[in-house]
Amino acid sequence: MSSKRVDVAANAAAFIDKDDIHEPFHDEHLWAARMKRDAAARAVPEWEALRDLASQIKAHTLTHLDHYLELFEANATRHGAKVYWARDAAEHNQHVLDILSSRNINSVIKSKSMLQEECNMTAFLETRGITVTESDLGERIQQLDNQPPSHIVMPAIHKTAGDIAEIFAKAIGTDPNNADPQYLTEAMRQDARQRFLKAGAGMTGANFAIAETGSFVVCTNEGNADIGASVPPVHIASIGIEKLLPKVQDLGIFIRLLSRSALGTLATQYTSHFTGPRNGGELHIILTDNGRSKRLGLPDFWHSLKCIRCGACMNTCPVYRRSGGLAYGATYSGPIGIILDPTFDESKYSELPYHSTLCGSCTEVCPVKIDISDQILKWRKVMAEKKYLPISRRLAFGAAGKVFEHPGLFHGAETAASAAMKITPHFLLYNRSLNPWGRHRELPHFAKQTFREWYLQYKQPDKEPSPKEL
Ligand code: SF4
Repeated sequence: MSSKRVDVAANAAAFIDKDDIHEPFHDEHLWAARMKRDAAARAVPEWEALRDLASQIKAHTLTHLDHYLELFEANATRHGAKVYWARDAAEHNQHVLDILSSRNINSVIKSKSMLQEECNMTAFLETRGITVTESDLGERIQQLDNQPPSHIVMPAIHKTAGDIAEIFAKAIGTDPNNADPQYLTEAMRQDARQRFLKAGAGMTGANFAIAETGSFVVCTNEGNADIGASVPPVHIASIGIEKLLPKVQDLGIFIRLLSRSALGTLATQYTSHFTGPRNGGELHIILTDNGRSKRLGLPDFWHSLKCIRCGACMNTCPVYRRSGGLAYGATYSGPIGIILDPTFDESKYSELPYHSTLCGSCTEVCPVKIDISDQILKWRKVMAEKKYLPISRRLAFGAAGKVFEHPGLFHGAETAASAAMKITPHFLLYNRSLNPWGRHRELPHFAKQTFREWYLQYKQPDKEPSPKEL
C-alpha cells in the first residue's frame, strides 16, 4: 500500500466541486439517518444506561482480551469450527488462500467485512486467480465501480441512482436510462443468485463474537451473509480480535444499540448466529489482530477498539457529510476513520485529524461512548510533535501559539488585523492561494469595539450600556 500522504482537503474539494447534486444529496441523506437515529434513541428511556453498559462491557473485554480470545477459540473448536490466528493482513490473506487452494476453490462470494477491506483481501485473491464477488448491494456497486466503500454501513451512499444505473448498464447490461431502484435491485439480485450457486466458498465478517459459546453474529439488512454462509460448502469468517463479548446476555445490549445508531431502525433485518459448521459444511474462523494489540497499548487511543462500526459518528459529522467518504483515502472514513487510520500509518494519514471541526457531535452519538473528538485533538498533538505538519502550518500555529500566550501581543494583533482588513484590496484578501477559506465565504467585518474594550468601558455598575449602545 502506498504511504503517500493523503491530501484529504483536495479530495474533499473534488467531491464538492463535482456538480451541484452529489454533495447536497450526500449531506441530506446522512443527516436524515442522524435524525432517525435521534428518534429511535429517544424512544428508549434507558438509552443512556445502555450506552454506559456497552462501554463498560467493551472496556472489561478489551482489558481481559487474552482470556476471552482463548475461551472463544476453545468453544468454537468444540463446536467443530477450525480457528486460525492472524497477526496481520498478510497472515489473514494467506490463511484464506490456503483454505481455498487446498479445496480447489476459485470463486468466492462475500458479504461486507471492513476487516477484509483493511487486509486488501479481494485484490490479493484476485491476483492469484480467485474470483471474489461482493454480495452486499452497496459493496457490489463499489466493486463494479472499482472504488472502496465510502461509508462503513452504506458503502455507496455518495452515489445517486443515476450513477448506479450507469454502472449496472456497463456491468450487467441493464437499461442505462432506467434508474428506478427496484428495477436495479432486482437486476442485481438475479445476477448475484447465479454467483451464490457457483461459489465454492462464502465469506463473512462478524459484528460480535461470543466467548462463552464460541459463536458469532452477523447483522445485515439484505440476508446476503446468510445465503453466502448457507449455499457454498465452505464458510470462512474473518473476525477482528476486538469483536469479542464475554456472554450471550451481553449481546442484547449491543443489538439494541447497533441498528438504532446506524439507521434509526429497531434491528437489522437479519441478525444471524453461527455456532459451528452447518451439517456437511465447513466453518473456518480467522481471528485477526492487524494492529489491534498495538492500539490496545496506546493509552490515549485504545478506547477506539470499542467501536461497533455503526457509522453514527459519520452520519452526524458536518465535515464527513460534505466531503464524502472517499476523501479520507482510507479503509475507515469520518470521525472513526480519523482516529483509527493513523494507527495503521501515521504519515499517510497525518492530515486526517485536521479534517474535523471538533464540534463533538460524534462523541455525543457514539453508542459505546468513545471519546472520539478528544482523540482527534490528541492525534493533532501527535502529528504536530512528530512534525508531520507542513512547515507553513507549523510556523503559523507556532506564531498563533505565541500570540495567544501573551495578552499584550493578542490585543496588538487584534488592532492590527482590524486595520489591515480595512485597507487590504479585495483581490489580495480573497486570493485563492493565500486565503482558501475566502473561496466560498465572505470574511466577517471586525466589530468597531472588541469585547474587552466594551467590558473595560462598562464594568462599573453605574455605567451599564443603554440598549442602543449594545
Ligand atoms: S466510533 Fe462509535 S459512532 Fe463511530 S462507528 Fe464506532 S461505534 Fe459507531
